[in-house]
Formats: sequence, structure tokens, C-alpha cells
Amino acid sequence: MRLPGRRLVGTDEIRSCGCCGRDLPVTAVHELGATPGVYICRRCGLWAATRIGRR
Ligand SMILES: [Zn+2]
Repeated sequence: MRLPGRRLVGTDEIRSCGCCGRDLPVTAVHELGATPGVYICRRCGLWAATRIGRR
């Protein structure tokens, strides 16, 4: 039996950060444009941006 109006894909979805490996809600991670399917959390994104900017 299905429940209408409720989707499996939503805010409850979990993604693993490709950088630190932590499991985080999809709302807390960002998909990398260069590599679809790979997500990084905001913390790692900030860290990466800082690193890239400092080169
Ligand atoms: Zn991370």
C-alpha cells in the first residue's frame, strides 16, 4: 500500500560526504559539478574553497 503525497526522495535522504565520509542529510551537502553523484558537506566545501583560493 502506498501513501500518496509522501515521496521517498526528500529531505530525509542521506548522502555521504565524499571528503570526510560522514552521512549527512541531502540538504547539508552539495553535489560537485565536476563529478556528478559525489557530494561534499559544507564544511569540506569551505575547506576546499579555502585551499584552492590559497594556492
Ligand atoms: Zn565532509
